[in-house]
Parts: sequence; C-alpha cells; structure tokens
Amino acid sequence: MEPNTIPSVLLVVTGGTISMVRDSRTGALMPADVETFKTFLSDVNSAEVTLSVQAFEPLVDSSDVNPPMWSKLAQILYDEYDHYDGFVVLHGTDTMAYTASALSFMLENLNKPVVFTGSQLPFGVLRSDAKENMLTAIEIAAAKDDDGNAIVPEVTVFFEDRLFRGNRTTKISAEHFAAFKSFNYDPLAIAGVHIRYFPHLVHYSDSRLPLKLRTHICNDVVVLHLFPGISETTVRAILSIPGLKGVVLETFGSGNAPSDKWLFDALSEATANGVIIVNKTQCTRGSVEMGLYATSLNLLSAGVISGYDITTEALLTKMMYLLGENENDTDEVRRLLERSLCGEMTIDD
Ligand code: ASP
Repeated sequence: MEPNTIPSVLLVVTGGTISMVRDSRTGALMPADVETFKTFLSDVNSAEVTLSVQAFEPLVDSSDVNPPMWSKLAQILYDEYDHYDGFVVLHGTDTMAYTASALSFMLENLNKPVVFTGSQLPFGVLRSDAKENMLTAIEIAAAKDDDGNAIVPEVTVFFEDRLFRGNRTTKISAEHFAAFKSFNYDPLAIAGVHIRYFPHLVHYSDSRLPLKLRTHICNDVVVLHLFPGISETTVRAILSIPGLKGVVLETFGSGNAPSDKWLFDALSEATANGVIIVNKTQCTRGSVEMGLYATSLNLLSAGVISGYDITTEALLTKMMYLLGENENDTDEVRRLLERSLCGEMTIDD
C-alpha cells in the first residue's frame, strides 16, 4: 500500500468484559448480543483509519474460548490478511494470554500487526477502560514507519498503556486496569500523549515468506505443578493419563525438583514412553537453568527439556500446536520446543 493512503484495520470481536452488559435478573455480566455491541462502536469512526468489524456469533466470555475458537479466529485473520493493514482482536482478559500465545504460533510468518485488547469494565460503564484500550490498539494496528511498513508486525497484547509481545504476557490482576504483565520481556511500546515504540525489541518474520495457517492443535497435555510433599501416587496418576503426550512441569526456582528417586523414575519412564516433559519455573521472572543445582541435574538425565524463561501460557499452547502439527514426530516436537519460534523465550547461546 502507498505510504499516504488511509490504513485499514479489521476489528474482530470475540467477546469478554469489553462486550458485556449486566443481566438485570442475575446481576452477572454476560456477553451482549452482537447488534447491541455494535452500537458501542458508533462513535469510533476515525478519519485516520478505515475500520471494519467482524464479530463471533455469539460473543463469549473468554473462559469459554477453546482451541476450536483459536482456529476460527486464526482462519478469519488468514482469510482477511490481504485486505487489511492490521488487525485488532477484542477478547476477554481471563484467557487472552493463552489465545494470543496460540495465535503467535498458528500464524506463521506473520508480517502484519494483530493486537489483542479488552477491558476490565464494559463499554457502557462511565469509568470504563474499554474505549481507550480499543482506540489505542487500533492506532497501533494501523501504525507504519516512514517506509510504509507496519511498526509492530507481530501478535501483541495492548492493555492500559503498554504493548507487549502476546506470547510473553500473563494476566496478573482481576482488579487493576493494568491487568497484564510481560515479566521476561520489555514492552514493545508505551502509550502516553504519544505512543513510543521500541522497534529494536520487535520480532520481524521474513517478509518474503507467505503467511501460513496452522490449525492442528493437540490437547493431550497437562500442567504438573510441583509442591513440597507432592506424592508419588499423584505424579504417577498424572503421568499415566491415557494418551498423554506433553507435560508442562512447573518446578521451583531455576528449575529444581525434589530429589526423590521415585520422581526421577516416574519422569524417566514417561519420557522413555515418548511423553515430552518441559521444565517451566514457578517463578514469574527469570529462567530455568538445568544443572545449576544438583536438584535439577536429575531432571536432565530423566529427559526433561528446558523451557528457559517461557510463560506457562506460551509453553502450553506451543506444545499443543507442535504436537498437533507434528503428530508422529516426537523428535521434531522436542527440537522445536528447544528453539524460540517467534520470540516466546530467551535462549542465551
Ligand atoms: N470473564 C471475562 C472474560 O475473560 C473477563 C474480562 O474480559 O476481563 O471474558
């Protein structure tokens, strides 16, 4: 597109608080019908952006967003990819970090902005953060540099005043307007009077490669959160779930686990049976460093892979995506889990 033409943005509305109204009978917030929601957008017209809207029917609370909906969303973005300069996805905050992470893997070679946002208060409420979040997200999705290239051509989450890489985010507050954090990667932009971008932090895909849609997702995965006193029965019950293919093992500190022999045996047996186990620290900041302490050496010899500084949301969705796309190739899944595919983890060489 020519640098001086008006950029176009597609707003995909999936639901979430941003789209909700209060049910007069129960008092609970529930997704509005699509037509009611569209009335909230009536004053959003901007001379700087041509905005189009597509909405999920019905709109959903993000607790109900599941892998088939990730695929549906990815398919919409793929189908509309050539028609718009950028995309904004309105989504509930509860599972936004999962969907944004999943989409970052499912849209391979993405070269346009896909900005997720939502709000803590619905559109109709006076103090709502909905309009501000949405308008800034639209501006970011439309933003181009002097050469006419998108400034942030990756999957991101914008909330309150920060733009984060989507697969680095975690929802951290059910109360504050700043609901998201990216503990291990700095923001890609900060919005004040001006939006300040940090292009040196942006992940750029090779612009010569076409967008590829990856919608095979495998949900034979589990999160195993270790705690002092966890029993052999519990661990073995989880590891023997029929059809289990991947485990996010949430460990202590820099990736440590109790040194009980039964734990080593249980993990070794699972990996020998083809189950992929990745070590994810329970700390929000910092990285797994297997071998730093004797208590993580065992995990290495049991065949457990390092998740470095990845979030649980990104690791889980990356596993689901890799297992879905490489059904019978465990070696390939293991190889790709140890690489950063689109900036989801920091690996020091
Ligand atoms: N329960 C809502 C959702 O995730 C919360 C929100 O949007 O803030 O859909």
